[in-house]
Amino acid sequence: MDRQQEFVLRTLEERDIRFVRLWFTDVLGFLKSVAIAPAELEGAFSEGIGFDGSAIEGFARVYESDMIAKPDPSTFQVLPWEQADGGHYSARMFCDIAMPDASPSWADPRHVLRRQLSKAGEAGFTCYVHPEIEFYLLQDLPEDGKEPTPADNGGYFDQASHATATHFRRHAIEALEAMGISVEFSHHEGAPGQQEIDLRYADALTMADNVMTFRYVVKEVALTQGVRATFMPKPFTDHPGSGMHTHVSLFEGDRNAFYDPEDPYELSETGKAFVAGLLHHAREISAVTNQWVNSYKRLIVGGEAPTAVSWGRANRSALVRVPMYSPGKASSRRVEIRSLDSACNPYLAYSVILAAGLRGIEKGYELPPAAEDDIWALSEVERKAAGYKQLPQNLGEALTEMENSELLPEALGEHVFDFFLRNKRTEWNNYRSSVTPYELRTLLPVL
Ligand code: GLN
Ligand code: MG
Ligand code: MG
Ligand code: MG
Repeated sequence: MDRQQEFVLRTLEERDIRFVRLWFTDVLGFLKSVAIAPAELEGAFSEGIGFDGSAIEGFARVYESDMIAKPDPSTFQVLPWEQADGGHYSARMFCDIAMPDASPSWADPRHVLRRQLSKAGEAGFTCYVHPEIEFYLLQDLPEDGKEPTPADNGGYFDQASHATATHFRRHAIEALEAMGISVEFSHHEGAPGQQEIDLRYADALTMADNVMTFRYVVKEVALTQGVRATFMPKPFTDHPGSGMHTHVSLFEGDRNAFYDPEDPYELSETGKAFVAGLLHHAREISAVTNQWVNSYKRLIVGGEAPTAVSWGRANRSALVRVPMYSPGKASSRRVEIRSLDSACNPYLAYSVILAAGLRGIEKGYELPPAAEDDIWALSEVERKAAGYKQLPQNLGEALTEMENSELLPEALGEHVFDFFLRNKRTEWNNYRSSVTPYELRTLLPVL
């Protein structure tokens, strides 16, 4: 047993922890959990815990369904709230998923990201990420298809002193910090009920784990405050959606490979080629960074979400932005990708972003000129003339781009690639064939 495993076992005993939750993520980005007794943990470390992979979205077919969850001791954290039963705490660890022959499972999003990160490592890079996570607090989950009611009436940066929001954010941040997740900023976002919490940067695998933990913690804390949290990309027709702007940098050792003090954007050739890769592959990675039918209702003009494939400095209508908050500071040179929404699978989303950016570096893609005008203010014709490609307008279009991609089967592995396309085609077809309240409202009275 190694030292991290020993530390886990010792902590379980010292804190009298009764349940250890083993966490992993399905292909669609839902958190899965199996609780084991501390006495089982030694065995779990050496052999893993067997489960039926065919019952997990995207994992296995019924005839080859035995899979094994192996806890990663470096992710051990005690959950900050007590269990109802006698005040005992629980703890959690993320797992890597293996096949019965101990080889890693290709269906495990954590493995997909690990593999992409080791490719980055072969090229000499470590990848750091920090997300700005937006979400809504709702009074409750409404019944059956009704529009929800936001939990407060605040706006951008409002203190909203009488409302749930500030108390909620304080409790949520305390819980996140207790689980080793550092929060840099938090504030009320633009719409009623909308919040943003920004996490301090970490390596990409840790951050994908952190995003999974974040969603769980935020939903739990919301319940304790008598409200509901949702990461749905666009829950309100008349308010902006919830994005997950993602800041990325690549380091070579302790040198930021994106930094060049001589460049007007302080962006190195490596940084530029990375952005060029993101733009070049933007349409085909869209189905992964924006994976729901609803995701595409956020990516419209207005609401500060990107619509065109473009990059810029201060430009918030661009898909990729180079934030210039701390000029001359090498360690903070990074690029901000603004398409991701808060309901993506972070492991897969980071994998495809990295694959696109690394491809740009590898092939030396040329970066088109920056877009410093407000792209939202341009007409469609002007946009075309300026050479901006549109992001896909709906999930169906995004899936067609993905199907034709040569990058994605490689980045995701054939198993996840095939499952994802099949699952999402079904979602798109179900959506396409259902008659919406919009049609009933606008057409029934007149046709
Ligand atoms: N909510 C916006 C989005 O969907 C972002 C708003 C902002 O942070 N400026 O991307
Ligand atoms: Mg922000
Ligand atoms: Mg924001
Ligand atoms: Mg931002």
